Amino acid sequence: MSKTVLITGASRGIGAAAARKFAREGWRVALNYTRSEEKALALQKELGNGALALRADVSEAAQVKQMVRQLLEEFGHLDAVVCNAGIALPLGLLQDCTDEDWHRLFAVNVDGVFHTVRAVLPHMIHRQAGRIVTLASMWGQVGGSCEVPYSAAKGAILAFTKALAQEVAPSHINVNCVAPGVIQTDMMAFADEGTLSELTEETPLGRLGQPEDVANAIYFLCQPESSFITGQVVGVNGGFVIT
Ligand code: NAP
Repeated sequence: MSKTVLITGASRGIGAAAARKFAREGWRVALNYTRSEEKALALQKELGNGALALRADVSEAAQVKQMVRQLLEEFGHLDAVVCNAGIALPLGLLQDCTDEDWHRLFAVNVDGVFHTVRAVLPHMIHRQAGRIVTLASMWGQVGGSCEVPYSAAKGAILAFTKALAQEVAPSHINVNCVAPGVIQTDMMAFADEGTLSELTEETPLGRLGQPEDVANAIYFLCQPESSFITGQVVGVNGGFVIT
């Protein structure tokens, strides 16, 4: 029986790289997306029979519940979930942040993780097995100037991960967090050449991260070799932040 994973926000960037990694290793992959239907369907085609593209806005609990119901009907079981879907706001001062931007950021980056995990937990608890990987950010660990809402939302994910890990450990469910540094995806599209070279210089390993760097850490946290790791935060940031 193939192993199965749900990856939220799998149409682009880190989520798409993780989907390719799991698929290459023989897993069946549910590819969640919300707007990029064309990209999600192209990835589903690329990954072949084991892949299933599922549209749901993770900020909407009912859509997430329906998505999980549909994937369990198709796959029969779920071994792992990667809560990767996320958005960032343009850099800016906190005093200029609108209520709308603040609430949307938290709706996707925090409520989205809550909705997804809540929807899969009864199944994992029933099976007494499961892996949950959340995506935070190094800014959630140390805070980033002009990224207060994003830092706060990702900080919430760190605490969510640690608390949940303790709560579900008796059900043999491991919950861990990956905290990326600067990774070259659409999320970094705002940065011009100068900014990118400054960020590269600030990174001790001397390069920016690629989506595959993060995908490899996510995959490891879903492997039998990581079965004694739970409640941890794995930084994938080239040494930019060392906590
Ligand atoms: P990205 O390239 O912008 O891709 C974001 C993904 O999230 C897309 O697949 C998008 O789907 C999906 N998404 C956004 N809103 C959604 C919603 N409401 N419902 C379902 N899916 C939604 O971002 P990325 O760089 O790969 O980031 C992935 C994760 O890593 C995020 O949680 C991000 O905060 C975190 N992270 C990234 C970096 C970085 O430097 N790139 C650093 C630290 C942490 P659609 O295409 O359908 O919109």
